Amino acid sequence: MDISVIIPVFNEEKSLSILYDRLIDVVTSFTQDYEFIFVNDGSKDASLSVIKELSTKNQSVKYIDFSRNFGHQFAVFAGLENAQGDAIIIIDADLQDPPELIRELYAKWKNGYDVVYAQREERKGESWHKLFTAKLFYKLINKLSDTAIPLDTGDFRIISKKIKDIIISMPERNKFLRGQIAWTGFNQTSVLYNRDVRYAGKTSYSYSKMFAFAFDGVASFSNIPLRLATYLGFLVSFISFLVILYTLYQKYARHNVVQGWSSLMVSILFVGGVQLICLGIIGEYLGRIMDNVKNRPLYIVKETNIYQQKN
Ligand code: UDP
Ligand code: MG
Repeated sequence: MDISVIIPVFNEEKSLSILYDRLIDVVTSFTQDYEFIFVNDGSKDASLSVIKELSTKNQSVKYIDFSRNFGHQFAVFAGLENAQGDAIIIIDADLQDPPELIRELYAKWKNGYDVVYAQREERKGESWHKLFTAKLFYKLINKLSDTAIPLDTGDFRIISKKIKDIIISMPERNKFLRGQIAWTGFNQTSVLYNRDVRYAGKTSYSYSKMFAFAFDGVASFSNIPLRLATYLGFLVSFISFLVILYTLYQKYARHNVVQGWSSLMVSILFVGGVQLICLGIIGEYLGRIMDNVKNRPLYIVKETNIYQQKN
């Protein structure tokens, strides 16, 4: 099979048929040997029936229906695990990623690149705080991590089968696919595009989801926050030591015993606060170790029309 297109879907009933038409136009212009894998991530609307409808019209439309909402990264991952193509395309269902760009992604992939990611030049209709936090996040993660994670990219990209095989063999549970793909190496390049506004509905990435995603990204690509906790601990201990010397000096050399209540409170609170921060950071990592050790399945499939063996 030439091409697999993976489409994670969460409440996208309005955009699905237009997405399908635009995808068909683009993909059939260079191959007839393709598959579309729609992963329905616990949508509450009619998304699944729209997808099933498409699959009865077209044998190449496959679907995986999750038993509940497991999250965007797991939906993409399930698609990767079932993809048969030599090249795999990941695209959002909300038409923010223009399907027509696949032509350029495919052309570059044909020219020998293993990963061609779509890089946003402009993002229409997104709030300034989303743009700002996104920018900040990619700057931060690149400062903290040795893996260069491309700025202004989402998961919209084409990857070779060999990259897919590596990604699905990576057992970590806190999936940050764009980082994991960057980490694999090989020949990677980008294509610039303008990100469209959502066709319908609204983003399902709330700030709390984005924050959790950002923390997954940082924690799986950098141990610096963990080290920061240690540095902070040393710094505070050093300051405390100076303050202790100063207190002793006041008491024994100058016989000037301080009332001291307020300074005591301040320092106790300060040290307490720092300890909590450090514990919090350690906790974040421990939580992730827990997740990995639990070894639960990443997602649960309720229904699918894909019956061939996983490769
Ligand atoms: N999505 C998903 N599961 C989720 C949230 C989102 O499968 O829990 C899908 C969604 O249908 C869309 C893509 O992931 O195809 C990107 O989501 P969204 O547009 O909400 O994110 P944004 O573009 O705002 O970052
Ligand atoms: Mg979107």
